[in-house]
Amino acid sequence: MSEAVARAKLSEVLRALEKPYGKVIVLPEEPTLDHALFLLLREGWDYRKAQRALRILQKEFVDWNEVRVSSPAELKSVLKELGDKDLDVKVEKLRALLASLWKERNATALEFLREMSPETRHRLLSNLGVIHQGIVQVLLHGLAGPDAALPVPQGAVRTLTRIGLIERVHSDGAARKVMEKLIDPEDLHAYLLLLTQHGEEICQAKSPRCGDCVLVEMCKFKRKIGLKDGDAEE
Ligand code: SF4
Repeated sequence: MSEAVARAKLSEVLRALEKPYGKVIVLPEEPTLDHALFLLLREGWDYRKAQRALRILQKEFVDWNEVRVSSPAELKSVLKELGDKDLDVKVEKLRALLASLWKERNATALEFLREMSPETRHRLLSNLGVIHQGIVQVLLHGLAGPDAALPVPQGAVRTLTRIGLIERVHSDGAARKVMEKLIDPEDLHAYLLLLTQHGEEICQAKSPRCGDCVLVEMCKFKRKIGLKDGDAEE
């Protein structure tokens, strides 16, 4: 496959993944915790709605500690202009992240991560247990700065390999090299978040849920569960 064809196909993949997971917009000027909360709010919501929710919370509360100690009813009350749909779930997720961070670090900010090594940052964000690996990867890359090496989340590599966009690779370095050629910098965070989320939730290592996959029509992987156009093989 030529590089131009691979790039076009990758673009098609990203657009397809935006349907179930939503468009990815990053807020590079926000503090890291605000960004994490925005990415949590974005799940299942239009990014404009998520951004509106973030701005309301930033305006109505003194800080994230006040949000942390507020009741679900108080949070829902200030966010009520956004409608009832999913509000309980969103409020629960926000409170869970703030509670987890408080338990782990006695903090309601994430800027202390800047003083840590990349491995420690990764471990701490993963240990919070509330944000999925796609969000973790976006936050880690934002913290590492624009010159940092491209991350190679295994879920993303797995999906790209199965749909035939990259050849099977046996090291992070090889995967990075292939992907650096294909991914434009402006698509990077979308790629990180959507492909990692897809790899975790749908294109899982042992039991890919091909019947629920929006990429199934373009996928070369033959273990298409419930479909008739391929036999099991990896
Ligand atoms: S069709 Fe199956 S193997 Fe292919 S990308 Fe989707 S979940 Fe993964």
